[in-house]
Amino acid sequence: MPSATSSKLRIAIIGAGPGGLSSAIALSELPDVDVRVYEKAGELTELGGGISVNHNGLKVLELLGLRDAVRGASTNPMVQRNAYTGEIVDAGQPHDPSNVYEARRIRRLVLQRALAARVPANLVDFNKKLASLEDIGADGVRVVFEDGTETTVDLVVGADGIRSLVRKHMYPNYALSYARQVGWRTLIPIDRLKHVPDLPLTTTSWWYGKAMSFWLSPVNEPPNLSDLEFTARVFNEPPIPGRTVSWGINVSNGEVFSRFTDVDPRLVEAFKQVPEGSWREFASFEGPVVDSLSAWDKLALVGDASHPSAGGFGAGSSFAMEDSWILARTIEYTRSKLMSAEPAEIVAGALKTFNTVRRPFYQAMWQFRQSQAKFLKEVGRKEYDDFDGDLRRRFASDGLGAKRGKGFLSFVYDSDIGKAWSEFLESDKT
Ligand SMILES: Cc1cc2nc3c(=O)[nH]c(=O)nc-3n(C[C@H](O)[C@H](O)[C@H](O)COP(=O)(O)OP(=O)(O)OC[C@H]3O[C@@H](n4cnc5c(N)ncnc54)[C@H](O)[C@@H]3O)c2cc1C
Repeated sequence: MPSATSSKLRIAIIGAGPGGLSSAIALSELPDVDVRVYEKAGELTELGGGISVNHNGLKVLELLGLRDAVRGASTNPMVQRNAYTGEIVDAGQPHDPSNVYEARRIRRLVLQRALAARVPANLVDFNKKLASLEDIGADGVRVVFEDGTETTVDLVVGADGIRSLVRKHMYPNYALSYARQVGWRTLIPIDRLKHVPDLPLTTTSWWYGKAMSFWLSPVNEPPNLSDLEFTARVFNEPPIPGRTVSWGINVSNGEVFSRFTDVDPRLVEAFKQVPEGSWREFASFEGPVVDSLSAWDKLALVGDASHPSAGGFGAGSSFAMEDSWILARTIEYTRSKLMSAEPAEIVAGALKTFNTVRRPFYQAMWQFRQSQAKFLKEVGRKEYDDFDGDLRRRFASDGLGAKRGKGFLSFVYDSDIGKAWSEFLESDKT
């Protein structure tokens, strides 16, 4: 554990998800830092199957030295279909093999392992669950774990996910709300699906129904297309009383399939081929972006801890990595300006800049979600006079799920965190 008498900047990262691991990479590359990661789980585990990495994610992975280590399948063309008839309502953008920043679908474990492999050896302590934090003034923050051990650091990075305990210390009254969406996710060996005529196995497809959608996508780099990711989602789902865990719950094939018996026969056959015991349930929760991504001049939030957004626009891991890279830059930059300052002053200055650069981004995302609330309620209704016509109109106009790959939510998916940082440095000169 970082020692309280160390002359280095002492940093404790809570959580070893994409946010914690990328923070460990970016922060440990700085000179004169003593970084440790504390993860409550016993090991890194795969939760959920596939994950999308868009242009913004590939840009930050490049900065972390990992762009080529995170291999998967292109999500272009991303074909949009009617879930009852299978008819194509939007053919998507063609695949461009020359574009190294083209969005990919990868196995979540591939991302986690690539990040973990780049974290210096022995930096992560597993089975270390944060219990509490205490501001001890000029000495920093006392970090206490559930096993009774503790450490003292200058900076705590809260990378502890959507139900962040670090956030709880900053905002005791912060409340998540259930987004009325539930998804079931699995991977199906492609060999089990080859007999299904015209089921797309090598390209990504969305299939939309009433108050539901399906996502089918390869997750491995071609030609090794061994698994197809299959996600079924419902909207306007009533809350489950007493449910406190929201991600990765085991559900039986029967429980999932019973909701979707009236869809295109190709989807029905795909449901039948799911290996029993492999469905995992994910209920979506969300909350407003916090007023500040830092507190006490000693705590910072990265990733889902600061902006719980019901699945993170399918890009939450990338946001977490972007936060981490920026956090490291702000420390580097503040040190270069304050040269011989005490760690506390450097951390305070860095966190101010961290907020300046990152919070407007999350504020814009939250505003976008608010603007979509009416639309989501509308698409989540069960009755339609003309479902197919409505779906086609949806893809010809704005809305969540529409215009994917055509500049939709460009400020999110097409962003370049390196450029954003250069722009900040430019503006800070003036
Ligand atoms: C259904 C679903 C689909 C998604 N699809 C995508 C996608 O396609 N692309 C994408 O980029 N993102 C996607 N996301 C979002 C993505 O999973 C998250 O945004 C991302 O995991 C956030 O990373 P994180 O490091 O902030 O938090 P997490 O991944 O949640 O990691 C937090 C870590 O902190 C640990 N922890 C928690 N509390 C403590 C404690 N008290 N002490 C110590 N350790 C603790 C946890 O065990 C965990 O390892 C999806 C999410 C869901 C639910």
